[in-house]
Amino acid sequence: MRGTVIHAPGDIRVEDLPEPQIEQPTDAVIRLAATCVCGSDLWPYRGLNPVKEPHPIGHEYVGTVEQVGAEVRTVRPGQFVVGSFFASDNTCQICRAGYQTGCVQRDYIVGAQAELLRVPLADGTLVATPGRPDPERVPSLLAASDVLGTGWFAAVAAQVRPGASVAVVGDGAVGLLGVLAARELGAERIIAMSRHADRQRLAREFGATDIVTERGEEGVARVKELTGGLGAHSVIEAVGTQQSMLQAVRATRRGGHVGFVGVSHDVSLDGSELFASLVHLHGGPAPVRSYLPDLVERILRGAIEPGKVFDLTLPLERAAEAYDAMDSRRAIKVLLQP
Ligand SMILES: [Zn+2]
Ligand SMILES: [Zn+2]
Repeated sequence: MRGTVIHAPGDIRVEDLPEPQIEQPTDAVIRLAATCVCGSDLWPYRGLNPVKEPHPIGHEYVGTVEQVGAEVRTVRPGQFVVGSFFASDNTCQICRAGYQTGCVQRDYIVGAQAELLRVPLADGTLVATPGRPDPERVPSLLAASDVLGTGWFAAVAAQVRPGASVAVVGDGAVGLLGVLAARELGAERIIAMSRHADRQRLAREFGATDIVTERGEEGVARVKELTGGLGAHSVIEAVGTQQSMLQAVRATRRGGHVGFVGVSHDVSLDGSELFASLVHLHGGPAPVRSYLPDLVERILRGAIEPGKVFDLTLPLERAAEAYDAMDSRRAIKVLLQP
């Protein structure tokens, strides 16, 4: 089968790879209908995470089950499924508390930018759609696999409530879908922080009421101005850098909540500033699996269309171009068609 391999920073190749097989009785193998490049794939691509040896890449996927192991009960060959980027049993105490990315059996999904993918713990990880979805829903279902689920968790972690004011730091796909999640959860004011016209437009479409183009301290000052001098009730951090994290903490009102989902890179917070801020911090790898049934249902009934974050679609063979387009910010998010 064809699959994407990262050889070194900036070096993405689509190659012939061995077909994945059932290795454990709890595995499934799925044939991908669509896959995509994640913002977090850009960290190794940019050399900010080391690439020690060439390895298959990609962790966002939807497709049709081809094969299941002997112990798989809830999905069967022929079903269309969506899964999270972490495999989880969905039965341990951590999963049942809604933190499937912390599952005692968790296993990171790799190699999804390919024709076929092995998914461990299939019963706990995959959610089947009722029947085969319309092709126009596939990009939105794919978005649920990570970016929508991650934006959703960020909004939940930031305790977005009906009537709340929300600020979103980061205008990548996750930040934009954090805007959509905040709207769905009933926020009244949603301030998107972005300086790119195309992303601002999509943020408005997803429910942003205000756009702030300033960054750093100026950005914080603008958010405060828009929220009666107090800062937002809920702030979503969807970047993962020192600047974005500080911007999020400082734009939050005393007693407010930060939901952080940008993969943290060299972020350190000053203890005394944090102590004085009175903000709640919650975040980490989003337990997407916990939200999937609800998100799939909203997508299939047409309540939300998160697939709009894909502003470029390429055949899998052109994965290298997809990385380049996202790295240079020519594209928000690229869908790959195996
Ligand atoms: Zn991802
Ligand atoms: Zn578990």
